[in-house]
Amino acid sequence: MTDVLSSIGVLVGVVLALLTGWHILDPALALLVGLTVLWSGWELVKESVGGLMDEAVSADVLEKIRIQISEHGEGALEAHDLRTRIAGRSTFVDFHLVVPGTMSVESAHEICDRIEEAITEGVPGVHITIHVEPEYKAKHSGIVVV
Ligand SMILES: [Zn+2]
Repeated sequence: MTDVLSSIGVLVGVVLALLTGWHILDPALALLVGLTVLWSGWELVKESVGGLMDEAVSADVLEKIRIQISEHGEGALEAHDLRTRIAGRSTFVDFHLVVPGTMSVESAHEICDRIEEAITEGVPGVHITIHVEPEYKAKHSGIVVV
């Protein structure tokens, strides 16, 4: 669209300059076209760079996620290494969940499902990855499950 507009602008400038004899019209329109091209270029760069530079979620959302893990992680011992990242329209969340080493895979999976459901309610369209670990991997920091 920018190409079409700038071509029309150049054409109009030349024709008007020829018809009216006002030679200033040509460079004046050329300047306008140049500014339009710069502006649309800037918009394109802004959009592309924004999509490439992943950002973490806001402090509010992070706090919400921490609370959901803490309140819905019954049976687990703690969660740590929580990371979040926004890429385009998607939000990615991953963390380690420490459970008793003797817990069955089925039980650990149930806890993960519960936490995932709770986080998804507050952050729609979120993609969550949970790495389950036995208790000797506990860091005794991060999120304590209440
Ligand atoms: Zn860990």
